[in-house]
Amino acid sequence: MKKTINDIQVKGQRVLVRCDFNVPLQDGKISDDNRIQSALPTLKKLIADGGRLILCSHLGKPKGPEAKSTLAPVAVRLSELLGQNVKFLADDNVVSAHVLADVNALKEGEVALLQNTRFRPEEGKNDETFSKELASLADIYVNDAFGSAHRAHCSTVGVTQFVATTAVGFLMEKELQFLGETVNNPDRPFVAILGGAKVSDKILVINALLDKVDKLIIGGGMAYTFFAAQGNGVGTSLLEKDRIPDALAVLEKAKAKGVELLLPVDTVVSQEFAREAAHKTVPSNQIEDDWMGLDIGEKTRELFTNALKDAKTVIWNGPMGVFEFPNFAKGTLALAQAMANLDGTTVIGGGDSAAAVIQLGYADKMSHISTGGGASLEFLEGKELPGVVAVQDK
Ligand code: AMP
Repeated sequence: MKKTINDIQVKGQRVLVRCDFNVPLQDGKISDDNRIQSALPTLKKLIADGGRLILCSHLGKPKGPEAKSTLAPVAVRLSELLGQNVKFLADDNVVSAHVLADVNALKEGEVALLQNTRFRPEEGKNDETFSKELASLADIYVNDAFGSAHRAHCSTVGVTQFVATTAVGFLMEKELQFLGETVNNPDRPFVAILGGAKVSDKILVINALLDKVDKLIIGGGMAYTFFAAQGNGVGTSLLEKDRIPDALAVLEKAKAKGVELLLPVDTVVSQEFAREAAHKTVPSNQIEDDWMGLDIGEKTRELFTNALKDAKTVIWNGPMGVFEFPNFAKGTLALAQAMANLDGTTVIGGGDSAAAVIQLGYADKMSHISTGGGASLEFLEGKELPGVVAVQDK
């Protein structure tokens, strides 16, 4: 078990908190502050305990300093949410003598935010010098950035070698509990729903979950590679021909393990990939040449929601169709609704399925919505996350 912020004394200490403030920005404004909100429990606890907080995060993919990736808007929003000033230390070098002086002047319960860690090109290389610079600001390091935990960077891994005490925050703890313990020790029946665009992105997760679940539901763009594997035409639907052997292996493995594997029985098809495209529903084995499947059909919605009815644990990663277009969002919506009505534990892997559940208004009905896209996938694949491994055990 990892040390958490309940296991450490922070009063009067300089606490460097790695947050995931990688929020979407539109014209310099934060269009979704979910990630900032998710950091609040940890920050409030550390403030209440008298820590002197220095927050850091990356934002976007800058290769060096660039105005559009400044964390300044995050400092403003976070100040509003915390109800206290968050001092933004706007140094393009992230750490400097000025920044150190400002950090050392912080009083108990005060909060400062460093500039985007990716303004330093060394960040992504887990370079020792920048790791030590970050560590020079802190007596304690707390990692609460689950969404970045699959990357070995200075602010997630390197820095931990040069700070005496390290711990995970509440968000990280919650992610590890739901994506780790729940999935590895589930109440049964345990059902996984996997969708999204590509088999290639999800094949490792499919294989890992096949070892654990009672039922596996497959939808979204990747279902068409399975149809092709069964000898059906898929028209112009998403198809990864080179993944047909993988799909066949999944079908075989499910059979061997006694896992019930459900594929769509009908499909909403269109002749173009467009928001307002004309569409119709056809059986999944009757997709005509010029048509592409963009959502699961009505019969499949019923089949999949029925399959969830007695579930005690459900994990979902990947939408059932092109949910960004309302005409093709019905399958994703139906599953979100079905999960929202369940009494069991419901876990949404990060990325597009999390976005879909939030956008469709079911966020507060789920047990847990992961904040990490890539990180949650890698964790579910059974990989160790470097940012988690680097934190001290209890
Ligand atoms: P992923 O990031 O792999 O979970 O994939 C999410 C993306 O898959 C979303 O942008 C969806 O629009 C897309 N998607 C889901 N179903 C389909 C489909 N049938 N055809 C094309 N794209 C799809």
